[in-house]
Amino acid sequence: MRDAFEPGIVLACRDVHETGGLPAYRSETRKSCQGIRLLPDPSPCLILIAEDEAQIANILDAYLRRAGFRTAHTADGETALQLARTLRPDLILLDLNLPRRDGFGVLASLRQDGHTPVIVISALDQDIDKLTALRIGADDYVTKPFNPNEVVARVAAVLRRSLANVETGLLRVGGLVLNSQAHEISTAEGPLALTPSEFRLLEHLMRRPGRVFARNDLVDACLPEAEALDRTVDSHIANLRRKLAKAGAQAELTTVRGVGYRLDAT
Ligand code: CA
Repeated sequence: MRDAFEPGIVLACRDVHETGGLPAYRSETRKSCQGIRLLPDPSPCLILIAEDEAQIANILDAYLRRAGFRTAHTADGETALQLARTLRPDLILLDLNLPRRDGFGVLASLRQDGHTPVIVISALDQDIDKLTALRIGADDYVTKPFNPNEVVARVAAVLRRSLANVETGLLRVGGLVLNSQAHEISTAEGPLALTPSEFRLLEHLMRRPGRVFARNDLVDACLPEAEALDRTVDSHIANLRRKLAKAGAQAELTTVRGVGYRLDAT
């Protein structure tokens, strides 16, 4: 077995091998769980561990695998982003203080193109770091030194919540919670009253926070034919901005000059 935690080396969890350039899981993966606990799901969730302290990474890896999860590991931020895109993990445990790109940068990039659940793990126990991580889009936060059993429990809880969000159609960005099925949106301060067009625009932007949408794409995706003009989008966005600010939402609609709009958690 090669050392899975050699700094700077892409990892490849110990059960991953390369096939045609893409990692795949060996059939022995399941056997390695035998005698400990096997999950009923034939493809247990994959957890990516981004942590440069080998001892901590080893502990997390051992506890997660014992609980039945599959794991992959990297010791730097750039590789964490690459692995997030290629392996598509179900959840990422992300250290904040990482070489090559810190956890804040990794999290911000992740949130530009997806909602992979992230639990931040850091030695930084100041509230400002916790708040910053949560605002950028972390789902939970654990401070070192931690009880590894607690981390495993939090991983399971965040995965359950994320699965429930998918099933119920909930979207969350910067304290905004949108329920597609119930056609409701709220902030911590309560429900937000939106017109149908405003709701569709905000829902569309919340599905891809950080991504810029051109005005005509927003018109095509969100507005009825009678309103289908670029300047109508501008006026809906102006109204949404006002309503989000009034409701104290930690999210803002950013104008990208000459292109369109995007929604950012603040
Ligand atoms: Ca570190």
